[in-house]
Amino acid sequence: MSGLSYWERTYGDHFFDILIVGAGIVGLNAALSCRERYPGARIGVLDKGMLSVGASTKNAGFACFGSPSELLEDLKNHTESEVVALVAKRYQGILALRAKLKDEQIDFEPNGSYEVFQSTQKSEFQACAEKIDYLNRLLCPVFEQDVFELKPLYFGMQSVLSEGIFHRLEGQLNPVKMMLGLKQLSLAKQIEIVSNYEVKTFGLQDEQVEVKGSKTLYCSQLLIATNGFSSSLLSERAIDILPARAQVLITKPIKGLSLKGTFHLDKGYYYFRNIDNRILLGGGRNCDFGTETTDRLELNIKIQNRLDQLLTELFGLSEEDVEYRWAGIMGTGRQKTPIVASLNKNIHYGIRLGGMGVALGTELGADLAQCVNL
Ligand SMILES: Cc1cc2nc3c(=O)[nH]c(=O)nc-3n(C[C@H](O)[C@H](O)[C@H](O)COP(=O)(O)OP(=O)(O)OC[C@H]3O[C@@H](n4cnc5c(N)ncnc54)[C@H](O)[C@@H]3O)c2cc1C
Repeated sequence: MSGLSYWERTYGDHFFDILIVGAGIVGLNAALSCRERYPGARIGVLDKGMLSVGASTKNAGFACFGSPSELLEDLKNHTESEVVALVAKRYQGILALRAKLKDEQIDFEPNGSYEVFQSTQKSEFQACAEKIDYLNRLLCPVFEQDVFELKPLYFGMQSVLSEGIFHRLEGQLNPVKMMLGLKQLSLAKQIEIVSNYEVKTFGLQDEQVEVKGSKTLYCSQLLIATNGFSSSLLSERAIDILPARAQVLITKPIKGLSLKGTFHLDKGYYYFRNIDNRILLGGGRNCDFGTETTDRLELNIKIQNRLDQLLTELFGLSEEDVEYRWAGIMGTGRQKTPIVASLNKNIHYGIRLGGMGVALGTELGADLAQCVNL
């Protein structure tokens, strides 16, 4: 018994064909793909925040596929073919995103990226530089060209080696413009986005999924796209996913800032770029993995101090030059590959995007939509 009146049950707005939990890059792309498959279906997207409160509007906007030191690290725990498949998913994901939203709309700039090494990291640099040919060959099936090369660094950085490893196909974008673009597309296709609705529980009842939040909703198919928040929602299912908080700072505008492109450091644990003539610098989870395994959106002072220190080492700037700081929540596991799977024939999930979900999200949303069977 749903407890609904005849009127509510027959004419009310509680029933959806497809409901998606999470209005991040995965959720909205899943909704758009569902619309393509089912033009007449009633599709809703629920989010506990206004648009996304997880990572999709809080990330650094790198359109990236893996820096040399990060790929070499991944190759210690994954096979070559797993790493190549993951890089291919990231690359295809960015191409799919750019096919959906125009470059001007999301400020996409194909400026390439650099992996930089601090003066203290000469041996790490050597180890990566020696593997450039190997990585180019390994990834040739994905990019159909050599993407990595050594390049001098001219960006006024201090205490870094004079050469970095350039990736010619990486780029950058504005994540909020990306999400607003996906939202506009969704609304234009009669996808209903319900903000400030937190799903507390869900369950299968008489071939329908009952979703409980501020009011009870029903759907035939439920898609869960809650990434870093999934361990609480899917807690009984022993899925290999944990929340991973990430810290970021942004400086005041800096006159004559010449940074162009995106920059990776230390196996992808740190990253920085120019946005509106300010430096965005993030990362440092490796300083405090334990505390950062959380979905609470709070700053971690220890990591913010480390970011301040790096800002001084790389750019000679201090805490006073920082204007703003924030944290976001990612979803990670022992493996880096994202998961698309079903709990049963009505409930499916697409999660675990790690630190490159901007690249993976479009395709993962489409894969999740493929689970739907109306
Ligand atoms: C600081 C930071 C920097 C990053 N930088 C980059 C980068 O430069 N490049 C890159 O490729 N990736 C980056 N990432 C990772 C990338 O942003 C994520 O992998 C990606 O956005 C995940 O998208 P998603 O849709 O799966 O999850 P999210 O965007 O987190 O969306 C999940 C949504 O689910 C909602 N939700 C959760 N639980 C519930 C519930 N019970 N009821 C209702 N709604 C719920 C949340 O409110 C959230 O909006 C970064 C992440 C962070 C945090």
